[in-house]
Amino acid sequence: MQAEKKQDIRKLTLEELEAYFLSVGEKKFRAKQVYEWLWNKSLKNFDEMSNISKSTREILKENFTINHILVDQFQRSTDGTIKNAVKLYDNNIVESVLIPTSKRITACVSSQVGCSLDCNFCATARLKRMRNLNPDEIYDQVVAIQEEASLYFDRPLTNIVFMGMGEPLLNYQNVLSAIDKICSPEGLGISPRRITLSTVGIGKMIRKLADDEVKFNLALSLHSAINETRTRLMPINETNTVEDLAQALKYWYSKTKRKVTYEYVIWDGINDDEKHARALAKFCKHIPSKVNIIQYNPIDEGEFRQASQDKIDLYLSILEGSGIIANVRKSRGQDIDAACGQLANKNEL
Ligand code: SAH
Repeated sequence: MQAEKKQDIRKLTLEELEAYFLSVGEKKFRAKQVYEWLWNKSLKNFDEMSNISKSTREILKENFTINHILVDQFQRSTDGTIKNAVKLYDNNIVESVLIPTSKRITACVSSQVGCSLDCNFCATARLKRMRNLNPDEIYDQVVAIQEEASLYFDRPLTNIVFMGMGEPLLNYQNVLSAIDKICSPEGLGISPRRITLSTVGIGKMIRKLADDEVKFNLALSLHSAINETRTRLMPINETNTVEDLAQALKYWYSKTKRKVTYEYVIWDGINDDEKHARALAKFCKHIPSKVNIIQYNPIDEGEFRQASQDKIDLYLSILEGSGIIANVRKSRGQDIDAACGQLANKNEL
């Protein structure tokens, strides 16, 4: 029972840890040493902190726990993609994915257990939102993938995308705090330029990112630049319309001068005509941007089907004609349900 009263030490900032050390009569610099063990070296056990005296370690053990994730299930796709089902301290599960290409190794991490949004085409939406992830739980997903990158590919992790389960801008503080630690020298020292946060599009929070002058990249799941279609696909569009998003993105660009990526799936009979393609091209004119056309990953036998290659080509020629950069992204890890929109803790159900 006593264990439950202990505080998770990684909830403390460095400054809070310093104050704690001073309050128990320890030297302030010990806090930084412990902090580096906890973050940079990802230690899960106080006893391994070799430059900390036994008596100090005992004090820490009496007062704190180190909650950490456990990779509960590991699956490997025929294309090399790895999916981790990660168990949290309270037995909730989230998934994260390692995506290898010839040039990059990307970690795709989750920000919430489940998701509160109801995008009709996304498997995660079928899980209700259970809770937000803590900063350390986000950070640990990256560490787990970093270890797998070195173990299975003998290459370093190069990029991190917040494109797993959940809506990162609805867990704003914890996501930003995790990114802070991922980028800091006491953490993983990864450049924010290698991190991309993907959002369903919440205007108010995009403005907040701009005000907070974040240095990472922003991606927006657009899927349609026509309100009627977008609302049908993503009910959040009722309160965050295409026009609202355009205004928020203009604000983002005015503050950060960073271009945005639009994620876009083209579905048969839903948004695969010239009208939608032209609306997208027009939307792209608001600020410097590029488009990633993502392949649809079927989640069930429902109404959604990937559009034909002709329709993708139609989009590409309209976008190109408007001077917009567009890339077609091949799906990865479909065979293990690790592709975009397929993360749904299927193995646990
Ligand atoms: N909530 C954030 C983070 C999820 S990112 C967001 O919405 O951006 C996952 C990306 O995959 C989003 O662009 C999402 O729209 C897309 N996606 C969801 N379901 C998909 C599916 N079945 N096939 C392809 N892409 C999908």
